[in-house]
Amino acid sequence: MMYRDTRDASRKVSFKTAVLQGMDPETGGLYIPMEIPELPRSFLFRNPAPSFRDIAFEAAKPFVSGEISDGELMAIIADAYPFIAPVAPIDPTTYVLELFHGPTCAFKDFGARFMARMMAHFNRGEDKTLHILVATSGDTGSAVGSAFHGVSGIDVTILYPAGKISRLQEKQLSTFDGNVRALSVSGTFDDCQKLVKTAFTDEALRGKLRLSSANSINISRLLPQSFYYIYGSLLIRERGPYDSKIENPSLIVTVPSGNFGNLTSGLMARKMGAPIRGFIAATNSNHTIPDWLETGDYKARPSVSTLSNAMDVGAPSNYERMQAMYSVEEARRLIAGYWLDDAGTMDAIRSCHARTGYIIDPHGAVAWKAWDDVRSGAMADMLAGKKVSSGMPGLRGKASQAPEWAQDCVDRKCIGMILETAHPSKFGETVKEATGRDPSIPERLEKVLSLPDRSQPMTNDYAKFREWIVDNLR
Ligand SMILES: *Cc1c(COP(=O)(O)O)cnc(C)c1O
Repeated sequence: MMYRDTRDASRKVSFKTAVLQGMDPETGGLYIPMEIPELPRSFLFRNPAPSFRDIAFEAAKPFVSGEISDGELMAIIADAYPFIAPVAPIDPTTYVLELFHGPTCAFKDFGARFMARMMAHFNRGEDKTLHILVATSGDTGSAVGSAFHGVSGIDVTILYPAGKISRLQEKQLSTFDGNVRALSVSGTFDDCQKLVKTAFTDEALRGKLRLSSANSINISRLLPQSFYYIYGSLLIRERGPYDSKIENPSLIVTVPSGNFGNLTSGLMARKMGAPIRGFIAATNSNHTIPDWLETGDYKARPSVSTLSNAMDVGAPSNYERMQAMYSVEEARRLIAGYWLDDAGTMDAIRSCHARTGYIIDPHGAVAWKAWDDVRSGAMADMLAGKKVSSGMPGLRGKASQAPEWAQDCVDRKCIGMILETAHPSKFGETVKEATGRDPSIPERLEKVLSLPDRSQPMTNDYAKFREWIVDNLR
């Protein structure tokens, strides 16, 4: 499979180049696959439904063909995914796809672990170490650190803003040993990013060391996220009609979104044949994409802080991929835009627990509320022409722009899958305030809290950072 640049379709690269470069260094564009082939129906409709690993293998195969053998791909998948994504039914028409069963308890494990193994694969045979530098505002650092931990030939340096991430997040990324280390930078996330970017453009340094990044725009993080959409939707196709008593229900997937990598992976899964009718793009007060769907104008803006902080993105990078795949009119037929403020998020955590008994984290709660509103009246109101005043949270858009599946929803022929992207205990205080309950902490998180902190202090001055690199990286 070849990959093309979102900014210049004539620029094409191999999978290896797309993985190792991350983005096109000439244009700043992102890579997308030239085509997204559909999986054979004999595979998708197999009885019993295929396992997570079988799906991962069949779905990934065309995207790496000619560059990675079947045997190697199988080994990479088995090594990356010793865990799966369980589907929890919480009411007769709602399923939660739990994406927090990986080592760092957030969905980013799915993408980061695949990317790490792909990079290691393409790095084999190099005699010099590949140094990954990654700036993080929280969750990405631990997912990337954990994914590369123990991978030979590669080492990772994580930069995070001192005092600006939660204690648990800091523990999660500063307690690695061996090939992963963390620098606690006195400054902001932007300072961390600037240090990393400056290092990448430092020709003299690059002459000495092989440097790479591992950021969220890498296509090898998006591809594997399609696996769980296929897995979850096939499972729900089997049991949905029994649980819901609806014949042939349409499946609507609600995705709590920030940078829109997750939703882009869902769009890819649908093209591969996952039985998904449509999507709800659910954001917090950073609602650049719902606004784009509503108005047709894309306006990037500074991010604002919210309770679902992993979604605090005002300029989502994957917009560029979405609009390379679909015009705004096509996107509207498939995706409904919804956003929620912090008061709504607290209320959503509370209502989900009160009505279903399920304890959900603030990110998943945004998705729960979006789905629950859409099925129970917001979509009917939109089709009836009722206006939501501008600037207010809720389902956005007007009747003439409603998605193709809108009427199904009003006719109660839809069932929902909502993506739960983090374990609720990672946001324990918020969850406790909303529900009165302390979510139990998984053992793998508890363990991290007792490990010694190994992060080293760093200033936000590039000369000091460079000196540290030269002294410490080989
Ligand atoms: C990163 C993250 C998101 C947002 O995912 P995008 O792919 O950036 O849209 C949502 N929830 C959690 C917990 C995350 O860590």
